[in-house]
Amino acid sequence: MTMTFSADEKFALQLDAEDPLRQFREKFHLPLSKDGSSLIYFAGNSLGLMPKAARKIVDQELDDWAKLAVDAHLKAETPWYSYHETLREPMAQLVGAQPNEVICMNSLTVNLHLMMATFYRPTKSRFKILMEEPAFPSDTYAIKTQIVHHGFDPKDALVLARPRKGEFAVRQDDIETALEKHGEQIALVLIAGVNFFTGQLFDIAKITAAAQKRGITVGIDLAHAAGNVPLALHDWNVDFAVWCSYKYLNSGPGAAAGAFVHERHATNRKLPRLAGWFGNDPATRFRLHLEPEFIPVPSADGWQISNPPIFSMAPLRASLAIFDEAGGMELLRAKSIKLTGYLQFLLEQTSSNFFTVITPHETDARGCQLSILAHEHSKELFKKLEAAGVKCDFREPNVIRAAPTPLYNTFHEVWRFAKILADHQ
Ligand SMILES: *Cc1c(COP(=O)(O)O)cnc(C)c1O
Repeated sequence: MTMTFSADEKFALQLDAEDPLRQFREKFHLPLSKDGSSLIYFAGNSLGLMPKAARKIVDQELDDWAKLAVDAHLKAETPWYSYHETLREPMAQLVGAQPNEVICMNSLTVNLHLMMATFYRPTKSRFKILMEEPAFPSDTYAIKTQIVHHGFDPKDALVLARPRKGEFAVRQDDIETALEKHGEQIALVLIAGVNFFTGQLFDIAKITAAAQKRGITVGIDLAHAAGNVPLALHDWNVDFAVWCSYKYLNSGPGAAAGAFVHERHATNRKLPRLAGWFGNDPATRFRLHLEPEFIPVPSADGWQISNPPIFSMAPLRASLAIFDEAGGMELLRAKSIKLTGYLQFLLEQTSSNFFTVITPHETDARGCQLSILAHEHSKELFKKLEAAGVKCDFREPNVIRAAPTPLYNTFHEVWRFAKILADHQ
């Protein structure tokens, strides 16, 4: 797709006026700067903004607790016993899954461990895990400790797909070369959908096919992909995936996370897992101590352990309703491509040598985030952005991440952000 942009402020305002999704910004609380104007909030990749509708939904749960107490499990406006059911369909839509392949539970890293408990079953000959570098530290810790948990050494068992020297993105070819080289020994590929540091969007379909051809299981961490880019987990035949919902999914700090188990595994009751009562067949769940045998639900629910955490799920209902109202990921992605494309265009206009955008240039190799590597005085530059009313984030040693999101950011904000950067010279 080619787009013609202009660095003229009027052009940015015009894009906003023509934006079919522009009214969605109204549905969020925008944090204010000291002077009372709204911040340019480009940190939705870290914590998405609060949907205004979240408060009413959370209040409803508090009221039901106050008025009904234990009876709210079945008699609340939205019964707590089956609360997670209300999230299933919209979550499945967002990640391109069937409803029976998705469960909302726990938080992301916990889900990563639970999925590895099932899908990382190393043997003496096949025990390696391939992941990308740099990866989010929590994923690295989870993977390394799983390796150790099974009696292996991360020094032997971890295969890292890295960018080449002087490059920032990991090449698909290099992932495939690593699969080729270690193929027989790799038990699991566990890779991000979108890398947290560079913003690189991986070709999940291709990686999955290349790995599975060699008998390797594939798990995807969608922390930076869910709600950012369209996904088709079922069709791509991914074995499992996990994601959090407080980044692009705007569901609040520590909100309940998601997990995907492909149907061909989800219906397999024989798969080993770490179980709890909410993964058990509801028909016998309340026979409690009378039924000590665990009978998993033949769907992703079979991995659910505990009863649903109502207060960390309630805001998610408000958020998913907004995604639904916006028409789903395809429309959001169309705006996102334009919004981030415009940011990229403006940064390139700033013919500057004090920063480099390390996110891939190609639209289909990134989501909405651009990672800007400052060649010097990176912290100073970041402080300057903050002082000018920009909320983005800094990743050591020298990268500023800016994520204009299609639900609540504007083209004019992108224009102002680029101007602040350009004026820094
Ligand atoms: C944000 C993020 C996490 C955070 O994990 P929590 O368990 O939700 O605290 C983990 N992994 C990746 C890749 C992330 O981007």
